[in-house]
Amino acid sequence: MALLETKEFVNCYRIEGAPDKLNEALLRMAASFAVSDAKMREIIDRFHQSMRDGLNGDEAGMPMIPSFIDRRPTGNEQGKFLSLDLGGTNLRVCQVTLLGKSDFHMVQQKFTIPAEAKERTLFDWIAQCVSIFVEEHDVEPNPGEYSINCGFTFSFPINQTGLAEGNLIMWNKGFLVPNSVGRDVVRLTQDAFLRKHLRVRIVAILNDTVGALMTSCYSNPDSQLGIIFGTGTNACYWERLSNIGKWAGPKEGEMVINTEWGAFDNAIEVLPYTMHDNKLNRKSPNHGLQVFEKMISGMYLGEVARNALLYLVDQRLLFDGRSSPIFNKSYAFDTAYMSEIVSDDSPDLTEVRKVFEQTLEIPSPTLLDCKVAKAVCDMIGTRAMRLSAASMAAVLLWRPEMLKGTVTVGIDGSMYQFYPSFDKALYDNCRPFLGDDFVDNKLKLRLAKDGSGVGAAIIAAVASKHLQ
Ligand code: ADP
Ligand code: MG
Repeated sequence: MALLETKEFVNCYRIEGAPDKLNEALLRMAASFAVSDAKMREIIDRFHQSMRDGLNGDEAGMPMIPSFIDRRPTGNEQGKFLSLDLGGTNLRVCQVTLLGKSDFHMVQQKFTIPAEAKERTLFDWIAQCVSIFVEEHDVEPNPGEYSINCGFTFSFPINQTGLAEGNLIMWNKGFLVPNSVGRDVVRLTQDAFLRKHLRVRIVAILNDTVGALMTSCYSNPDSQLGIIFGTGTNACYWERLSNIGKWAGPKEGEMVINTEWGAFDNAIEVLPYTMHDNKLNRKSPNHGLQVFEKMISGMYLGEVARNALLYLVDQRLLFDGRSSPIFNKSYAFDTAYMSEIVSDDSPDLTEVRKVFEQTLEIPSPTLLDCKVAKAVCDMIGTRAMRLSAASMAAVLLWRPEMLKGTVTVGIDGSMYQFYPSFDKALYDNCRPFLGDDFVDNKLKLRLAKDGSGVGAAIIAAVASKHLQ
């Protein structure tokens, strides 16, 4: 069965009229990127093992980090808050007014994170951005309060020790700020605020997945999962406290667990890992880590595709064996180009040609070149969507009692928003595991728009109530 499925998948990449040698190379490549249903089942089973290990504190498992959030938002939270959303690509500073009744108002400003901040000056740079925002938007503390309450969405793994404290486990997504691993990132940020005399107090820190889940809960009480498909990928979900072996506190009720699923199967025991993934992994600063994320998310997908395309170039099967100085550069092929390429259905592939000829300066790509390039991007994008569906199905199946009613999944990130058919592929690819009835009638995937900003405000609202 698995073999048959793989064969079908592979055969759809055969290009009519292309030389045999090219078709053979293309089909071999497609086979290496294929994820059969049987493979997805294997991944789901391994996911469960990895979740179990992580919840019990076994380092072989996924991190499965307790978020200290143990109450579902009601939708009635109110107040004005500052929120920070540090993603892998941008920092967004927002002023969020929670109006209750699931309604909110938000003003935000986006700052692209410069390389210097990623490598060195991150916390002072954040303080600088906050100071610009506070000044430009006249943000003041609420009447009777000394500082502006702030929720901080931080999309890197931290070991939380409280709602507003957490030690950085490690960097990923290309960040490497010195002297920060093992330290409390709230403290580091708060100290940078003090150096700038900013009257902003961080009252809660949360992962971006948690932000997406909270935002989703604010308007859909049946929300069970928050997922990010952006620069990186990760998810969180509501877990029973009694199921969290490593949790020392009370065992009654629920808590949001940040899975850090980007770290799934770093040992590469079940993932369909290719030479093109290996090339990326070998050259990345976090070699051997976040292997699952590197097969799925926006930061990496284009680079996997670039490696695969250059592999064909080197065999003189693509672009007449020629690349370009631009295309030779690591990470020059943004995942956004893949979205443009796979969505081009014009007979002469005008958009595909534009990307390669004009943007990447490949000399005179032929129509056949464009077809090959589109096929390669499609294989890699399809694999990403199948793996994403497998991980989502795995977390849903982990709590089978959740599947009895309707389930909303709050999802954020540019891959989910902009990669063609990502949403549809998530539904379709998890059918064999969750059943048609559940997928058609009970599963609701919803864009948790501005999830990180709003989610941080919701948690800040809950936290500042605690503080009062
Ligand atoms: P963050 O992870 O910082 O919160 P986003 O969710 O916006 O940010 O994700 C940014 C990532 O999405 C980048 O890696 C970028 O390459 C990728 N991306 C941006 N636009 C697209 C697109 N149209 N299709 C696919 N990926 C995209
Ligand atoms: Mg984000």
